[in-house]
Amino acid sequence: MISEKTMEKFTRRNFISMTTKFLAGAAVFGLTPNFAEAAEKTVDDKKIVTLDDAFLSPVKDEKEVLKFDMPPIPKFQTLSELNISAPRLRFVQSMDQRKFTSTIVIHNAGLTRDVESSLQEIHRMHLGNGWAGVGYHFIVHKNGVIEHARPIDRIGAHSYKHNRYTVGICMTGNYNIGVPTREQTLATEKLVAALCQNYDIVPSITTIVGHRDLCDTDCPGFNVYPRLPELIQNVKAVL
Ligand SMILES: [Zn+2]
Repeated sequence: MISEKTMEKFTRRNFISMTTKFLAGAAVFGLTPNFAEAAEKTVDDKKIVTLDDAFLSPVKDEKEVLKFDMPPIPKFQTLSELNISAPRLRFVQSMDQRKFTSTIVIHNAGLTRDVESSLQEIHRMHLGNGWAGVGYHFIVHKNGVIEHARPIDRIGAHSYKHNRYTVGICMTGNYNIGVPTREQTLATEKLVAALCQNYDIVPSITTIVGHRDLCDTDCPGFNVYPRLPELIQNVKAVL
């Protein structure tokens, strides 16, 4: 049973706490001179907002706003769950199988302008280099669409001297000029997470790298490369 004395203490403490809050609020809104009047009205006039309403409601609202503004927690999807299209491409040479995969390399298409490229265009360009066909394993478009390019189990042609142990992802666009879209960034993160899970790769700055970490190039561009640590953090969070 709660004794009257306890109740009295409780009530007094509550009153002090509420009054302090009220004074603080009044000070913020420059109402201190009218405090006595306001307090009286609060007691006498039941229609006037109660102290509880005045000081607790805004906190509730704030929590609701925070909850509402929180970005949705991204859901992890495996490679097969990701909606990756696989257009038919004709490769002109056989490609050796990759024996192991420890690293994921991020590229940008890096054409002279920050424009979208189709997989077929990139494939034709790489055929023009005398390669078997498109050198990247995946293309991530500005609208977030992911396409399979070179068969995932074959050695790629995207990072000279580092193709035997890497998977290459190309984000279409030129990120020395432009900035990737949110859709493209999210799709790249999802793809990298799925690849990490698929190949048992622990995401870090040595396992998820930019092309420039391995070769003398500025790929994947000044607007993507500095954001790779953030991408790695997001991949870690979703795995
Ligand atoms: Zn590159």
